[in-house]
Amino acid sequence: MEIFKEFTFESAHRLPHVPDGHKCGRLHGHSFRLAIYLQGEPDPHTGWIRDFSEIKTIFKPLYERLDHNYLNDIPGLENPTSEVLVKWIWKELKPLLPELSALRIHETCTSGCVYRGD
Ligand SMILES: [Zn+2]
Repeated sequence: MEIFKEFTFESAHRLPHVPDGHKCGRLHGHSFRLAIYLQGEPDPHTGWIRDFSEIKTIFKPLYERLDHNYLNDIPGLENPTSEVLVKWIWKELKPLLPELSALRIHETCTSGCVYRGD
């Protein structure tokens, strides 16, 4: 079974490795939507895999680093594509949420990335 919790954050970025004239090379922002998936068996007593409010607490320090910030300034996010960003979030979260099974990030309503670990 998997549970998920969604978060939204607003961040600015630019992609330094795109060809000259590509719109993503210019400074712009996204309203990112992130879903954190956790896999496991519900605890027989509590009935849940993980308290959703715990996920929120665990994600909060990362949220603070990402929200209303310029992603390119964050070490490891010098080329902050959705693919790079989702791997970076995975690396930060996995030690804190061992049951993490997938991350899904939307950078627009129609574009995004799913990562299930290496
Ligand atoms: Zn962008």
